[in-house]
Amino acid sequence: MNKILDLIFEDVKNENETKKTAVTLRISALIFIGYFLCLMAVFCGMGDWMNVGGCLVCGVCYVLSFYTTYWNHTRESAWISQILMIVWIILFIVMFGWDCGVQHYLFAFLALNFTVSTAGERRKVLNAVGACALRLALYAYARNFEPYSPLDPGISVLIQILNTIFIFAQITAIMIIFTKDAQKMEQKLVRYNTKLQKIASVDALTGLWNRRSMWEYIRAVEYDYEIGNAGFVSIAIADIDFFKRINDTYGHDAGDEVLKAVAELFMDKMKTYGRVCRWGGEEFLFVFYGRNGDAAYDVLQEIYDEIHRLTVSYENEEIRITMTFGLEEYDKNDGMEMAIRRADEKLYQGKETGRDKIVY
Ligand code: GH3
Ligand code: MG
Ligand code: MG
Repeated sequence: MNKILDLIFEDVKNENETKKTAVTLRISALIFIGYFLCLMAVFCGMGDWMNVGGCLVCGVCYVLSFYTTYWNHTRESAWISQILMIVWIILFIVMFGWDCGVQHYLFAFLALNFTVSTAGERRKVLNAVGACALRLALYAYARNFEPYSPLDPGISVLIQILNTIFIFAQITAIMIIFTKDAQKMEQKLVRYNTKLQKIASVDALTGLWNRRSMWEYIRAVEYDYEIGNAGFVSIAIADIDFFKRINDTYGHDAGDEVLKAVAELFMDKMKTYGRVCRWGGEEFLFVFYGRNGDAAYDVLQEIYDEIHRLTVSYENEEIRITMTFGLEEYDKNDGMEMAIRRADEKLYQGKETGRDKIVY
């Protein structure tokens, strides 16, 4: 069984051809082989050896059509399969008349035409129009000419049932193969899009939100505040003291390690209080959601204490840092930009008056 499945799902070697077209053609050929075997059984039962022979020829043609899908010329394979279909549909109507119902296979032809065919959109529409015209022509022919080998009413019913089953099988198989891939592709694109969005909103070095996505968050917080959902909001800016010295003493990579360690600490501490982002080189902006200045101060004090305990190991060095913080409670009348500016002024004040402190 696995061997048969491997055979059906074997990839095409040409890099510019898709596997799903070949797979559709193979499954379609197998369904037709099944169909002609059933018809052969029906005609065998009636002792109608001429039609058994006819169905055998059709079956063998589909075995060959199956085989052509391994030539690595899927385009030609699709052509052979479609032409074969048209030829036997015409022959069947001429032989057995309209009542044999094979004209409905033109719908399966239509499905194949729009899926496996490599022709352009215009050509496909032309093929569809051609299939429609052929169906009308066959109908006109059947109304005016008697079939060469009219079917018994009982056999006609049996063949109609077989046709219904096999046409549904054909169209279902084609649709499954093509829609499954399309949905997979769509999911893949959605995942890729989410990834791109994340890349665009996150700082590559530290993994913190970047300035751009922080502004989006700030606008959302402002809105929440406006409608009374946020309660209090506070803003803080933090800056590493004498960071340039760290770079100068231990190297730029050591500076990066410090930034990463600080970011990790902030991220962990701010999980439940709001959001923190990398605002600039060694500056970080905190938005405390639902916290007034006093409550935000308590959180900052915890962060400040943790910074004092933090040691960053780089090569054989243990790097220790201090930071200065400026904290401001948001006032709706002044707006967010003003709150950020005031927090920044307080940070500057902290730097001017000895660093390593929270100015509130
Ligand atoms: P102050 O206490 O006044 O803040 O002094 P400072 O040395 O921290 O401030 P200054 O603005 O003079 O220097 C900041 C330095 O941060 C300069 C810049 O090279 C460095 N820096 C900015 N971004 C990065 C980064 O991504 N990685 C590293 N390693 N250094 C960075
Ligand atoms: Mg600094
Ligand atoms: Mg700075």
